[in-house]
Amino acid sequence: MTATIIDGKAFAASVREKVAAQVSRLKADHGITPGLAVVLVGEDPASEVYVRNKGKQTVEVGMNSYEHKLPAETSEGELLELIARLNADPAVHGILVQLPLPKHLNEDLVINSIDPAKDVDGFHISNVGLLATGQKSMVPCTPLGCLMMLRDHHGALSGLNAVVVGRSNIVGKPMAQLLLRDSCTVTVAHSRTKDIEEICRRADILVAAVGRPEMIKGDWVKPGATVIDVGINRIPAPEKGEGKHRLVGDVDFASAAEVAGAITPVPGGVGPMTIACLLANTLTACARANNLPEPE
Ligand code: NDP
Repeated sequence: MTATIIDGKAFAASVREKVAAQVSRLKADHGITPGLAVVLVGEDPASEVYVRNKGKQTVEVGMNSYEHKLPAETSEGELLELIARLNADPAVHGILVQLPLPKHLNEDLVINSIDPAKDVDGFHISNVGLLATGQKSMVPCTPLGCLMMLRDHHGALSGLNAVVVGRSNIVGKPMAQLLLRDSCTVTVAHSRTKDIEEICRRADILVAAVGRPEMIKGDWVKPGATVIDVGINRIPAPEKGEGKHRLVGDVDFASAAEVAGAITPVPGGVGPMTIACLLANTLTACARANNLPEPE
């Protein structure tokens, strides 16, 4: 293997440490404790794990965590009422509605009912527009984590060719916006892209956010490129025993690591950075709400 492994787990721990130090200063100097409310509707097992981890890490950095678990049959009206209450609650600085929502709930409507200043996921239409026009906004956590790792590894990103595979509102599109903001030349590839392998081979920075296990092979990667693998896919692992699974990314790690200059592993790459950035966003929202200088 030739690539440097970008250790997202260690990086995320350092981000959380920084957030924790700033939280304790906020408490000591201003008597303010940042608060994050997480809303989970229904019983999706993966979402339950995410919500539990978010709550645990929120408390670990010294913030208040408010968990709202609602039954799957919750009506849109009931959910909107809860969000209105959280919007009005001065102890709540960040609100996150865990996606996906059950089918009978309109996700766009629900997300856009969150006060944009408390929208720590950065999915509200106002934050999407602010990011696209280069204004101060809440930035979606997963692409923000990817950007932080890229800046840490490369320093300035200006002039680099970046290819983002995937165009979801949650990852691909905001990732492309952030890279553009950092003056990369950005190409967004998706399921209809022609000659995708050739396009990927031109990338100095290759971000994979597809949801297809190990789709991107080593021969799609430009020698020396930095590869950020957002994908989290559970695949059967009979070698670990009957019915066992393991996590892999959207990149075929073994072959890509032979060619890339640097690469994020799965697990232990982008994943841990996402929650760390959620906590950083909550701290930022809290500082803004109290007219205090923004944390760096
Ligand atoms: P979506 O399913 O919303 O989007 C997937 C994107 O990949 C779409 O734009 C789709 O194109 C594109 N795509 C699908 N098949 C192909 C193909 N064969 N070739 C090229 N492009 C393709 O997924 P998300 O963006 O929400 O998530 C992507 C991955 O990242 C998933 O594995 C998810 O689990 C993971 N994830 C990880 C997070 C983390 O914290 N690490 C957070 C969020 C997601 P089209 O638009 O044309 O359909």
